[in-house]
Amino acid sequence: MASLYDFASLAEKSRKQSNMPMNLYFDNAATTPMSDKAMEAYIRTEREFFANPSSVHAEGIKAKKELERIRRSFASMLGVKEECLFFTSGATESIASVFSSLLFMQPGKAIISRIEHEAVASWLPVLSYHGWKTEEVKAKGGFVRPEDLASALTPDTKLAAVMAVSNVTGAIEDIEALVKTVREYEKTSKRKIFFFSDSVQALGKIPYSLSSLDIDGASFSAHKINGPRGIGLLYLKNPSAFRPLSSAGGQERGKRGGTENLPAIAGFEAALAEWLEDADTKRHRIQGMNAMLRETIASLDLPILSPENASPYILSFASPYPSEVFVRMLSDKGISASSGSACSNNAKGESEKIMQAMGIRSDNARNAVRLSFSNDTSEEDAGYLASAIKEICNG
Ligand code: PLP
Repeated sequence: MASLYDFASLAEKSRKQSNMPMNLYFDNAATTPMSDKAMEAYIRTEREFFANPSSVHAEGIKAKKELERIRRSFASMLGVKEECLFFTSGATESIASVFSSLLFMQPGKAIISRIEHEAVASWLPVLSYHGWKTEEVKAKGGFVRPEDLASALTPDTKLAAVMAVSNVTGAIEDIEALVKTVREYEKTSKRKIFFFSDSVQALGKIPYSLSSLDIDGASFSAHKINGPRGIGLLYLKNPSAFRPLSSAGGQERGKRGGTENLPAIAGFEAALAEWLEDADTKRHRIQGMNAMLRETIASLDLPILSPENASPYILSFASPYPSEVFVRMLSDKGISASSGSACSNNAKGESEKIMQAMGIRSDNARNAVRLSFSNDTSEEDAGYLASAIKEICNG
């Protein structure tokens, strides 16, 4: 009898053999399809470790052992202690856990960058409502400058948050320099500032090392690296000071209540291991496709909105039409791309605001199209995309 996994590949085969329209997928910063290895790990774990890891019978203990084996594996892949890692339902929940824990403190000041994803930015009005002072630091050209962060710091600052890689343009922030700025300030203020970095678009996609960055917290998501949806990770350097969203059930050492999604956690592990294997070579290949598309776009005199040294996995440019029109034209050619950041229902409005904060002209922001790649993006598909862009632009 065919296994569940065989059914998935049979379905894929029949899709290819049928006359279904071609779909070339260039929206990997929004989400990625699950890889075969992640799917296999997911299905195997669901079958072999179906019991609740909190149950005290043999099957429960077996599931718990598997959960802790996977946590150790993440700790070794990320170069941190396993006690610092907590599985969540995704980056949005990881971020919510950090920001909601501020509400248990005496109000102070929270600083975030103006280019944060809504999962972070949406917390500012909540904090203000609870008496916190908030400030958004500018990011001209897409980058938060240490001196701008420095001038926002005050003795009552309790949190500073800057994302590692922009989901809109792929701009890579200098987190090392920004953390250093905060740590220098702490020496004079003698008060601890929690430095948080939403690292969803960094994991596996740029050289990124939690062990060498002196940050206090970070969020990650599986579905951006060919893992399952609805599973994420929260890194906390010092978990003891942290108040959870819910401690009901006592899972994740009391820091995240709720039955653990073990198959998804296993799928996430398999996906990350695959992304980190030979990561430089994979990145180099994506960089090649990115460069080819940049050349195509530049030859059409269209402004490229991603900085030169951005993550190779994201390339934003201003199309000649409003972004939703251009995205629709690409879609008619069997190509999925995105207008703006497309990881939320309000993607366009959100990314236009972020682009304005980056100093991108509003007409270019309105026409912005984001192409995003994954390690399974082929040169052939990128070549077809380049021809489709040329065809649309040359009428
Ligand atoms: N942060 C960034 C930078 C993102 O790109 C996303 C993607 O949607 C998120 C947070 C939210 O992640 P999740 O879908 O895992 O909640």
